[in-house]
Amino acid sequence: MNTIRWTTLAGVALALRLLPASAQTHVDPAYPIHDRDRPQPRVVDPGTASTQSAPGRPPADAVVLFAGKDLAQWQHQDGSASKWKVGNGFFEVVPGSGYLYTRAAFGDCQLHVEFAEPDPPKGEDQNRGNSGVFLQGLYEVQVLDSYKSPTYPDGQASAVYGQFPPLVNASRPPGLWQTYDIVFHGPRFDAAGHLTRPARMTVLHNGVLVQDDVELTGPTGHHQRPPYTAGPAQLPLALQDHGDPVRYRNLWIRALPEAAH
Ligand code: MG
Repeated sequence: MNTIRWTTLAGVALALRLLPASAQTHVDPAYPIHDRDRPQPRVVDPGTASTQSAPGRPPADAVVLFAGKDLAQWQHQDGSASKWKVGNGFFEVVPGSGYLYTRAAFGDCQLHVEFAEPDPPKGEDQNRGNSGVFLQGLYEVQVLDSYKSPTYPDGQASAVYGQFPPLVNASRPPGLWQTYDIVFHGPRFDAAGHLTRPARMTVLHNGVLVQDDVELTGPTGHHQRPPYTAGPAQLPLALQDHGDPVRYRNLWIRALPEAAH
């Protein structure tokens, strides 16, 4: 009896994983190969890459979350205006001021973040340039000075905190601008609030693949892996105040359609 039950459960789990994937990542049978009549992809000006001395220009269809001047699109958890410091083309965590959240909410997305660790460095381990990028305010891609500074692997820079160490440590020295390019697909829930598809993430750190379409166990946490709880498909993005003056610049996000998964 137990065997039958587990076989059934495995079948259901498999179906749940296969159904969305087959609808979204397989060749569309509606079009013959090389069909010139199928809809053309939208034209998007891709912008320019950043250099150490200047941020690049975001893609034309991106929502720009920081254009170098103000944090009008951000707020603290209580809805108050940002208390983080804005400098010349960057902004910086003000220790003790609290996390920042976007005023807008986002679902599946491509996110570009640039950050610079304090130089000279201060502290060690988890207290060395700690911040974090929280997709939907729940799923943290760790921001940390991991350049020649060890910590537990699932908590170093570009780890999905407490769940996935990065594939490699592609950190630059403190003071230099670094990039995260993140592709995020949020979890899905049925009408009864049961999980039908876990969240997934792909991350490039300074252009190097560090998270390859990993499947999250739920929200990230310190010494815990809390389960998913059903919630809105769109939620604000958050940046962590962990007490260290980490800098950010050139943040932009592109919403992804369901069909792009
Ligand atoms: Mg952190």
